[in-house]
Parts: sequence; structure tokens; C-alpha cells
Amino acid sequence: MKFSDLSKYVDRLEKTSSRLKITEILSDVFKKSDINEIDRVTYLLLGRLKPRYDELVFNVAEKMMIQVISDAYGVDKEKVHKKYKQLGDLGDTAEHYAQKDAKKSDMSVSEVYERLVKVAEDEGEGSVERKVKGLSKLMTDLDSLSNRFVARIPVGKLRLGFSDKTILDALSWMETGDKSRSSQLEKAFFIVPDVGQITKSVKRNGISKTVEIIEPVVGVPLLPMLAARLKSPAEMMEKMKEVSVEPKYDGLRIQIHYKKGKFVKTYTRNLNETSWMFPELVDIGKQLVCDEVVLDVEAIGVDEKTKTLANFQQTMTRRRKHDISETLKNTGIRFYVFDILIKDGISLINKTYLERRQELAKTVKKGDLLQLVNYTITKDENIISSLMKKELSEGLEGVIVKRVDSKYVAGRTGWRWVKMKEPEEQAGKLADTIDCVVMGYSRGRGKRADFGIGHFLAGLLDGEKIKTITKVGTGLTDDQFRELNKRLKKIKSKEKPKRYDVHKDLVPDFWVEPELVVELAADEITKSPNHTAGYALRFPRLVKFRDDKEADQATTVTEIIQLIKLQK
Ligand code: AMP
Repeated sequence: MKFSDLSKYVDRLEKTSSRLKITEILSDVFKKSDINEIDRVTYLLLGRLKPRYDELVFNVAEKMMIQVISDAYGVDKEKVHKKYKQLGDLGDTAEHYAQKDAKKSDMSVSEVYERLVKVAEDEGEGSVERKVKGLSKLMTDLDSLSNRFVARIPVGKLRLGFSDKTILDALSWMETGDKSRSSQLEKAFFIVPDVGQITKSVKRNGISKTVEIIEPVVGVPLLPMLAARLKSPAEMMEKMKEVSVEPKYDGLRIQIHYKKGKFVKTYTRNLNETSWMFPELVDIGKQLVCDEVVLDVEAIGVDEKTKTLANFQQTMTRRRKHDISETLKNTGIRFYVFDILIKDGISLINKTYLERRQELAKTVKKGDLLQLVNYTITKDENIISSLMKKELSEGLEGVIVKRVDSKYVAGRTGWRWVKMKEPEEQAGKLADTIDCVVMGYSRGRGKRADFGIGHFLAGLLDGEKIKTITKVGTGLTDDQFRELNKRLKKIKSKEKPKRYDVHKDLVPDFWVEPELVVELAADEITKSPNHTAGYALRFPRLVKFRDDKEADQATTVTEIIQLIKLQK
């Protein structure tokens, strides 16, 4: 496919807000794409170059893109900057200058892709100059519409308002003319979350074969299994029959991928690679009885002064990339291992929980770095309650109750894993905190004016949409207000992001891109005609910034409906 033709599709996608129409356009793109470049087409449509877990970062800031446009079209940098301020978008700015220099271009998607990869991969001395040169040359080789997109991709601004899920819908549409096969494709995506690879496989093998042959791979993170909620141990017994009760640790969910002599990598629940956070893992082999393994763990910091487990905030200090040796001195690390997904070339995800735990026991030797999570098998609800009390009294978050015969299935479906964080006596309160997407914010008055924020608007996921559930203006410390202001300024959006569904009375002073997730506590969930989620939070307060989550991992409207059922 010619890149200029792909750009015409992108232009149409940008102008469309109907999800169905977007799905149809995408399925048309896939039909017309050649099998040898359909994966590249897919990544570019999502504004990236690689699957999510293998992100190639461009390191091209807006200032640099202004230089690129200036060099490409021989216009003074100040002038480009002014035009950018006027148009509010670098893509439109590049297109504006390219139009004056109107031309056609025959470059293929693959050629443009390769040149973008070259720019992104360039590092080290002189790389800034080479990146600018590479991009400005690329721009002058392309038509004006293509310039719009080529300017947006490196600065991370090609946002067409859909994500991986819509790509899967479009593949179903391509084969059947509807979305009836999407859920099957989602299962494949849970195992290998690479839409590029999946589009390619569907084009080559069709959907059924793709789903049949997909296998998890060491080095490619799987989407994690998550815990649902139920009202009480009694209800758990009724739904889950025989269970295993495990302590719930409050750290960072991590998947460890290990290949002896080759690599050890870690990924967060949203598929970001975090291997640099845990240099201690070079020694992991000493505790393993295998050559290859994928482990599901909770990583928790250890306060080196008190030798006790650190809280979430302290654990997260390891994310800092500067002064890492200082951080490591203060905060050690321990991995609480609770599941095993692949061992020595064999996938274990279709084995039962008990079989996996048995395999785990044979795989992990005693030591400091890896600790096997304890478990108790029971059919008795009283045992769940007493274990819950014990864990809470020991300062843990609660328990995770797991059905003994469950396979490893990504997401929160079925009653396979259930979490319990509040003792039953307190079940009148909201049974859990809620992870919301920050959608926008409004200026404050008085003291708040100094912080730049009076309140922020928070929302839940509903399919691809993000719907409001609350405004939060109290319950933040001064430091949290300042921190929030700093973070939100960076993700401000000129227009309301396409995914947002907001009642006109709640429109904030500033929109932000759906990139920040916050954990909120509240007293109660009530019905609400004002919030598009249909519900509101009473007395919401900020618990913490969830840097380990992104918008697509926020709480969903369906989960809220379940939580309401748990409220007395
Ligand atoms: P939540 O984030 O509240 O949905 O709770 C589920 C999370 O609890 C998982 O994603 C893990 O990060 C964490 N967790 C802590 N201990 C365990 C455990 N024993 N089994 C599974 N998940 C655990």
C-alpha cells in the first residue's frame, strides 16, 4: 500500500466518531493491505512502530519537530513556532507548509515505516541532528496529507481514538462482516498482545486457525489474570466450590520472563517493560530449577532500615531512572510468586490452579529474592474469614481467593479469582477502591489558585468510551495538588478526546489525554443523572496515583454495578 493511500484512510478515521464506521474503515484498510506489511500498517494506525510491550521510543520532543519542519521547508523556526501556536497541532503545521510545496508521493508504507524505525532507533552522539535530518528528508519526500501524520507519530500525537480492541473488531469484520469473532480474537490477544502479529496471522490463516495455533512465548508478556469481587465468603463458596486462599500483597504486579543465559525481563500489568527496576534479578537463576520460565509475582520493596516490607509508594521509588543506586540502597526487593505460566517450552495456562501451584513448588527453590506465596485449600467459608482477619492483622491488604480448578485466564471474567479487602463487618462501606481516568480539570479559587487546580474530573471505562463518575476537589494534600498540576499540564489536550463522554454541565476548564489513572476511595456509590456513567461517588478522595495502570486498566462501569450490589 502506498503511504499516501494509508494517509487518506487515516484522514477519514480522524473525522469519524462512530465506532462502527471506524471498524468498517479499518477492516477495509486490512482487506487492501499486503500480507507482508499488514503488521506495519497496524502499528502505524495506532501511532506506534512496535507492539505495546516492545515500545520503541522516538525521543523527539515538540521543539525538535519544529526544527524538522523548519529544515524541511526552509522556514524560520520562529515562524514555524508561531504557526504551530496558531494551529495548535504539529501535524497541521507540517501539512500547511507542505501544501505550499505540493507534490505526489509513491512511497510504500514499508518504506516510510523503515525510515521511521531508523530515526527512532538512532541513539548516542549526534543522534539529535541525524533524527532531525532523517525526519525532514522524509517529510519533503511525502505529500502534504502524509506530512500531517508523519509529524504527529514521532511526538506521540497520532491519536485516532481507538485502541487494540477496535483492531480486533475490524479483523472480525473483515472476515464475517460483523463483530461476532471479536471475543475469540481477544483470547488470542490475551496470550500474545501484539495486534501486528495477530492481523498478520488472520490475513494468512483466518481467525479460527489463528486462535488455535497461538501459544504464549517467553519474552512476550501475557495479559494478566485479575480478581473480581464477591460479597462474602459464603457467596464465594457457593460460586467457587473449592478454593485456595492466598494473602494479598500490596506491591507492583510483575511478570518475570527468564531464559537461562539469554535474558531476564519484567513487565507490568499494562505490558510496560521494567527490567531496569530490578537489577537483583541477574541472580534469579540460582533459585530456579529450569531453563526457561514465566512467573506471575507481586514485587514489594523492602525498607532496608527497618527490614520490613515497604508500602506501595516506597516500592514505586524504584521507577526513578536517576540515582538508581541510592534508591536500591534504601529499598531492597522481594518477589512474592503466586503463579507460573510457561516452563521449559510448555505452556501451563490451560492447567488448573492446583497443577500450576505444584509445578511452581518444583520450580522455585528456597531463597531471599523469590518467595512462594502461601496458600490454604478449603471448602469452608469460616476459614476464609479467619484467614482474612489474620492477613489484615499482619498488615496485608486482605486475601485473594482462587478457584482450585481454574485455568489461567486474562481479565476479570468468571469467578476464578476473587479479592477481599474489607472484613465482613465493615461491608457497609464501599468494598474496594476505584481506579479512575483523569479526564480534565478546572482552575481553583483562593489557595487552590496557587495549585492551578480546584478539582478534576474522573471517569470509568465503558468499552472504548470513558464516562464521568465524579469530580474530585477535596481529600488531596497540598503536595498531591501540586503533583497533580504538574502531571496534568503535560497531558493537556486542545480538544475533548474522542473517547470521552461528558455531560455539558461538567465540561472542565481544561481537557487532558486519558493517560493518568488515580485510585479513589469513596463512602458510597449513588445513581446519578449528571454523570454519563450513570453513577456518582459520595465523598471521593484520592488514595494514590496508579502509575502502574493506564486508561484501559481503569475500573469499568460493569464493575461499578457489581460493587453497588456489594454495598449493603
Ligand atoms: P486489584 O489490583 O485490587 O484488582 O487486586 C489484584 C492485584 O492484587 C493483582 O493484580 C496483584 O497485583 C495483587 N496481588 C497481591 N497478592 C496476590 C496474590 N496472592 N495473587 C494474585 N494477585 C495478588
